[in-house]
Amino acid sequence: MSDPGLDFATSFPVPMPDADTQPFWDGCERGELLIQRCGYCKKWLWQPRPICSGCQTPDPVWTRVSGAGFVASWTVLRPPSLPAFAQKLPYVLLLVELDEGVRLIGFLVDDAGGWLQTDGEAEGIHMGTRMSLRFYDQAGTILPSWTVAS
Ligand SMILES: [Zn+2]
Repeated sequence: MSDPGLDFATSFPVPMPDADTQPFWDGCERGELLIQRCGYCKKWLWQPRPICSGCQTPDPVWTRVSGAGFVASWTVLRPPSLPAFAQKLPYVLLLVELDEGVRLIGFLVDDAGGWLQTDGEAEGIHMGTRMSLRFYDQAGTILPSWTVAS
């Protein structure tokens, strides 16, 4: 059985929200980055889960964060790629460590949140570069993405 959400040959991959991740994607739709935090030990949790990975307390609290952080790693994507990304290459994919200590993957976008196609270089990105959150609309899916902090 084919899954239309995973048709990599013709479309962008899309998230498949479940009970644990739906609040995260709903937050992105509203332009809010939500990260879970344990209500007991206060540990920040990523990826979404039903219980705290530190103390096993259930029902971590979805908490809005600024999305500010720094580059923990990055790469420049070049061909080959999934067909849907072929016209977007090259671009920068980031691993951003939020100030809360969790790490998320996202695209490097321009200051307005638009796609940033590079010249094959890293657009001045390096380990530790301070980043600001933006939201990028990828074919109707709102994704947390980052731009260099001003
Ligand atoms: Zn905990």
